[in-house]
Amino acid sequence: HARRDGGNVVRYFEPTMLAVIDSRRELEKDLRRALVRDEFQLLYQPVLQIETGRIIAVEALIRWRHPKLGRVSPADFIPVAEEAGLIGAIGQWALHRACLDAASWSEPLRVAVNVSPLQLKSRDFVGVVQSALQESGLSPSRLELEITESVLLSNGDLALAMLQEVRSQGVTIALDDFGTGYSSINYLRRFPFDKIKIDRSFVSGAQANPEGQALVKMIAALGVSLDVSTTAEGVETIEELNAVRDAGCTQIQGYYLSKPLEVDALLELIGDPSLAQAHDQSRRADHV
Ligand code: C2E
Ligand code: MG
Ligand code: MG
Ligand code: MG
Repeated sequence: HARRDGGNVVRYFEPTMLAVIDSRRELEKDLRRALVRDEFQLLYQPVLQIETGRIIAVEALIRWRHPKLGRVSPADFIPVAEEAGLIGAIGQWALHRACLDAASWSEPLRVAVNVSPLQLKSRDFVGVVQSALQESGLSPSRLELEITESVLLSNGDLALAMLQEVRSQGVTIALDDFGTGYSSINYLRRFPFDKIKIDRSFVSGAQANPEGQALVKMIAALGVSLDVSTTAEGVETIEELNAVRDAGCTQIQGYYLSKPLEVDALLELIGDPSLAQAHDQSRRADHV
């Protein structure tokens, strides 16, 4: 988008709409190839049970290592994947990878995988979950699916039926980013879930903000009365940890505890000696 007007003058123009569409199409093209080129990676962020002080679960968070752009955030490429019809394949990859990884750890941590609402529009979904469990040998009770409230609104019946089916096999369901959607409390009655994840926007600075603290308290109380656990997302400081604990949350996740980690660093953190070793060996084997 630069033009040389003689001499050394380079003029830059505002990107046109066409340019925006162009780069989007470019990204889509690259995304289409990313799976076969093995450019995706899962990082794992630990979740701590406040009462016991133990790490009981990890959330799988996808990363795309683009050959030219470097790390692309899921916030940037997931929406493109959804529009391009690629989220089914990417979601399937993530489920398989997460189940295979978790099945290889000696600590029986639960692994939570984010699921796009679009994945719950396809009837294949139950089969995809089942094949990830079967191929990995992971116990269904160690798999959690994170869905957002928008699923409750947009694709009601099929999504509900599929979630009920996987849940009847022992998979648990977490409501992600709770409080940011528009769902009415009434939807919650219809919906099978085991955990509420309180969005970071309510957790940030909760200790200094009476409204935020009141909301966290209310959601934690809702969790108690519905008999589901409540995870505070995005806990970055000890003050926030104290605030969400006092509000009654049962679990925390956030930079205060740990950033999302590569598998090796996770295994080191949870002290999984057998696996750290197995990884060492496979790494050594790579370099022979
Ligand atoms: P999410 O599921 O709500 O994940 C939590 C996000 O908060 C993650 O961002 C995580 O890295 C970030 N986070 C965790 N603790 C802290 C903290 O203390 N402070 C701050 N500032 N951030 C924190 P990430 O990894 O960039 O993922 C963004 C979103 O992308 C996720 O939000 C999820 O909606 C989506 N996503 C990630 N992986 C997948 C995937 O495999 N499939 C689908 N469909 N969506 C995914
Ligand atoms: Mg999530
Ligand atoms: Mg979330
Ligand atoms: Mg989020």
